[in-house]
Amino acid sequence: MKDKVISGKTKICGVVGDPIEHTMSPVMHNTVFKTLGIDYIYVPFKVKSSELRQAIEGMRALNIRGLNITIPHKVAVMRFLDRIDPLAEKIGAVNTIVNDEGILTGYNTDAGGFLQALLEKDINPAGKKVLVLGAGGAAKAICFILAEHGANLVILNRKLELDWAQDIAHRIEQNYTANVRADELNKKNLEQTLTNIDILVNATSVGMSPNTDETPVDAKLLCSDLVVFDIIYNPFPTRFLREAKTAGAKTIDGLEMLVWQGALSFEKWTGRKPPVDLMRQSALRLLQRNEK
Ligand code: NAP
Repeated sequence: MKDKVISGKTKICGVVGDPIEHTMSPVMHNTVFKTLGIDYIYVPFKVKSSELRQAIEGMRALNIRGLNITIPHKVAVMRFLDRIDPLAEKIGAVNTIVNDEGILTGYNTDAGGFLQALLEKDINPAGKKVLVLGAGGAAKAICFILAEHGANLVILNRKLELDWAQDIAHRIEQNYTANVRADELNKKNLEQTLTNIDILVNATSVGMSPNTDETPVDAKLLCSDLVVFDIIYNPFPTRFLREAKTAGAKTIDGLEMLVWQGALSFEKWTGRKPPVDLMRQSALRLLQRNEK
């Protein structure tokens, strides 16, 4: 592998967020650009909410080819774009921007990344009953892509007073024929719902580093009939996924979703088929290095 030479022809991609210090995306994308010998580079940009507009104007002015958008800008960024992909519009969040000669289009590859991670394990959500825990940004993308692909949903969220889960459920009902119900995330609702579902998704931040002893679902409630997907990838694996595996469930980790969202963004920027295994290996190496 040759050293990367940056020239006047090098295309620039990056990720915009705040904080941005722990992002895995630069390693994933730069490894792929370098290995495939394509003339792109990927850099992190720490951007405050008050400066998001200028950052996106700067993308146009500096001819940056593509950006990933992460916390806390996925919703706010939408108003600065020229076009929004219909799915991202329904979800109400953008995590990928493509700059085509000054025309900025927003997409949501978190949603597609989640779906692809399921399909790769031969799990088709059509007609399945899915319980999604959480109603934050990631849960929103997951619920919409599941509804779009024919799943029926129960969304349980801790704070019902803010109505995030109910808001997702209402908007899904307006757009799709899926059965969807929202309720409070508590022991009773968990126990009742878990008796009758096929796929269980943790889209809360429960169990994420540094709170690695936490788990969103008591191990006693897990069984071998379930597919369990934890979108958290740090720690790798989470306590929740370890316990699901012990219970005999089929498990999918958050690294798969991360890698696939990156792969879908890569494809939009470069027009090339993403080398998913390479992206997975580089992300995994970084995770393991960080855990040491
Ligand atoms: P977010 O918008 O802040 O939402 C966080 C969610 O977690 C909310 O529903 C929140 O409920 C819930 N929650 C937090 N603490 C809780 C607790 N103690 N008990 C019950 N529920 C709790 O965050 P996000 O962007 O959706 O991200 C959620 C997680 O997914 C993070 O760990 C993130 O790293 C991960 N993620 C992974 C990927 C991937 O590619 N693998 C992509 C995006 C996100 P309330 O509404 O009640 O606060």
